[in-house]
Amino acid sequence: MTTNKKTTNHAWRPQTLAVRGGLKRSNYNETAEAIYVTSGFVYADAAEAEAAFVAKAPEEDDRFIYSRFSNPTVCMLEERLRLMEGAEACRATATGMAAVFSSLMCQLKAGDRVVASRALFGSCDYIISQILPRFGIQTVFVDGTDLDQWAHALDRTTAAVFLETPSNPTLEIVDLPAVCDLAHKVGARVVVDNVFASPALQKPLKLGADIVVYSATKHIDGQGRCLGGAVLGPAAFVTDHLAPFLKHTGPALSPFNAWVMLKGLETLELRMDRQCAAAKRIATFLGSRAGVARVRYPGLANHPQHNLALRQMSAGGTVVTFEVAGGKTAAFNCINALSLVDISNNLGDSKSLITHPATTTHQRLGPDARARLGIGDGMLRLSVGLEDPADLEEDLARALAAAA
Ligand SMILES: *Cc1c(COP(=O)(O)O)cnc(C)c1O
Repeated sequence: MTTNKKTTNHAWRPQTLAVRGGLKRSNYNETAEAIYVTSGFVYADAAEAEAAFVAKAPEEDDRFIYSRFSNPTVCMLEERLRLMEGAEACRATATGMAAVFSSLMCQLKAGDRVVASRALFGSCDYIISQILPRFGIQTVFVDGTDLDQWAHALDRTTAAVFLETPSNPTLEIVDLPAVCDLAHKVGARVVVDNVFASPALQKPLKLGADIVVYSATKHIDGQGRCLGGAVLGPAAFVTDHLAPFLKHTGPALSPFNAWVMLKGLETLELRMDRQCAAAKRIATFLGSRAGVARVRYPGLANHPQHNLALRQMSAGGTVVTFEVAGGKTAAFNCINALSLVDISNNLGDSKSLITHPATTTHQRLGPDARARLGIGDGMLRLSVGLEDPADLEEDLARALAAAA
């Protein structure tokens, strides 16, 4: 693959990197990124094949062998994400959960200890509470908003810290610089699930984290088409732990999905700007409606950690969580009466989506664990899309009236 004269300039600003970072043109000089739909690559002769299999330093390893190891379209996505995040290295995965699982499993072994915040995406919780202990890894959960609990849990050697901020669906904010300091004192690598903020709103590596994971399925695709994920972190971590783990276990992203994500990154900032502005407007609107008991949105001054959110994020995000007075019946009546917003457990889409966490994404936890996380039976999680916010407000007003 030849690179034409317009290679990536590392001084470009984030939005320019989002459109052009990592672009490598073939000798056809196509405008858009090419999709290399191929499982393998051919060699001119046996000696070239032999040379391709000799281990090289990552920077000189530009010979593609097999798309489970690497693929030109997937590499363009990894490079664009790496530049946007300001990370040393990036690897893409087939889903967000493959990114979470491999970011932890590639570095952990029996006898290790992991500390995690309790308010996690359901499958992240399952990995930490159910899978890791089966391999002799001790896992400890803390309330992510309570620095005393973090300090208490991080009082001995720990291999990894895992957290999500803002959390799903309660939108709690974890103080990243403070938790990273505590973690580094006991030797732990901090892995941050940055899905809710996306690379457009929050840069965990700049706030002290070691590794960032994404479900690219959410805001990075942003239009509900493909599953994908990514892990970003230090070059040594990727070379020594992550890359061999991915190469030999195989959660590779398809080139087509990588291309969809590349195109998604080009408009990420534009979409996030619009969706965050609409989410803030709708959070304010919901706060003024009868029948709404509570609204949680990090971008509003009444969020308990609003100031922390402002320090860590450039906007409040695309998700608004609110409680309908009247519990499960009222919440069901409300979402059943919506005619524009769809009932769906996905988020970060251009279409506004609403879910009832207690009976869907967080059903598995049971009532006690939900109560501890503050997930009530009247709670609804709204992912605000790109529709005209006035239409969304009218739809929500109608639905709240029907639920009352
Ligand atoms: C969706 C999501 C994941 C998992 O991503 P998939 O692409 O669905 O595998 C992980 N963490 C968070 C916070 C998510 O919202």
